This record gives sequence, C-alpha cells and structure tokens, in this order.
Amino acid sequence: MRALSAEQFAEYARRQIAAADGILARHGRTGALCRCARQWPCPVAVTCVKMREHYVARLALAEATVRLPMVHAGRKRRVSAWRRVLTALERAVRS
Ligand SMILES: [Zn+2]
Repeated sequence: MRALSAEQFAEYARRQIAAADGILARHGRTGALCRCARQWPCPVAVTCVKMREHYVARLALAEATVRLPMVHAGRKRRVSAWRRVLTALERAVRS
C-alpha cells in the first residue's frame, strides 16, 4: 500500500467528512428515537460523528503544515520570514 501525499490525504479526509455528513443528514434525534427509527443515539450516528471528528482533526493538522520559508542571515529578512510563517499558520488555523 503506497502512502498518500499531504494533498491526497487532505482530499481523502474531506471526502470522508462529506460522506459522514451525508449519512448524518438521515439521522437525528426525534424524541427518544433517531430519524432512522432506532433508539437515540443510534449506532450509525455515533460511528459517523466519531469518524467525522477524527477526519476534521487530522485535516486541521494536515492543513496547518506549511512549507517554511528560507531564513536569511539579515535581521530584517528573518523577521519578515517569520511574519510570513505566522500569517500562513493563522490562515491555516482559521480556514
Ligand atoms: Zn439513526
């Protein structure tokens, strides 16, 4: 089995999250029961919520990994390079 690249994993994780959302759309609490007529919480909903949380967390880690810029000896350039890193990280965390 070959390893996925970061981009391939991110795409895979997004598809897993979308699949979980699609399944969860058919489940939900209606009194003591789920919309699928099982007792709430139904095992399908529990499994999908766990799967969704797993991939959301992994995707956040994957997307927070950014390519670091070259840091040069000059002080001004070093400050601006780190500012770019912080800006990229802030963007990754917000998205
Ligand atoms: Zn259900």
